[in-house]
Amino acid sequence: MEPSLEHLIRLQELDDGIARRRLTVAALPDRLAACETHVATAETVLAAGRERATHNETARRACERDLAAAQTRLSRYKDQLMAVKTNREYHAMQHEIAAAQEEVRVLEDRLLELLVSHDDLAAAVKSAEAELDAARPYAEQERAARTAEATRMEEEIRSAEAERARLVTELDPQALALYTRVAERRQGQALAEARDGHCTACHVRLRPVIYQEARRGARPVQCDNCNRILYVPSQTTEAAPQK
Ligand SMILES: [Zn+2]
Repeated sequence: MEPSLEHLIRLQELDDGIARRRLTVAALPDRLAACETHVATAETVLAAGRERATHNETARRACERDLAAAQTRLSRYKDQLMAVKTNREYHAMQHEIAAAQEEVRVLEDRLLELLVSHDDLAAAVKSAEAELDAARPYAEQERAARTAEATRMEEEIRSAEAERARLVTELDPQALALYTRVAERRQGQALAEARDGHCTACHVRLRPVIYQEARRGARPVQCDNCNRILYVPSQTTEAAPQK
């Protein structure tokens, strides 16, 4: 294969590698944000669980206070019942006692409900705490790994760019201009492998003369359809007749 074609193949490899690594580097902020979101979600769940538990605690205390007051009132009415003088007073007091008893019953039911939900809420808080405890170190590891990966990618981009700069000085200016022109039109893909008489990028059957030229690799030839510069990998070229 002619050196300028080999150089173009290497140039495409470098450009592909640089583009791929740039995507990874560009995705870093989103990946770091995803780590933050993971922890923030666990924190929100825990905060909400704690708030519900606190609310339950407050409601339980209020309920216990109300229950104690209702019970005190009930026993006072019962004492007063012994001291009434008239039938009318007796009925009125019995009415008060019935109302207080109903109040005690309702408050006891409510207290029982609150005690039952207290256990569920405490279990939910415990599990949310465990979730957050796991989320924090996971996010930390993930952050460190992603940052290290991006740093490594940046170093690889720098070294690929250095090699690219050297390569460009060695390249035939016409071949380089052709590569640049096609790459701009084809999302960075200036080269296409020719295989079994076809362009592997656009899948069009190549004219035999073009395919033969590509196999010889003596000069850059382009696909008639997509304009990409065609190449046949070295081992195939070697196996093929040279003239
Ligand atoms: Zn093509």
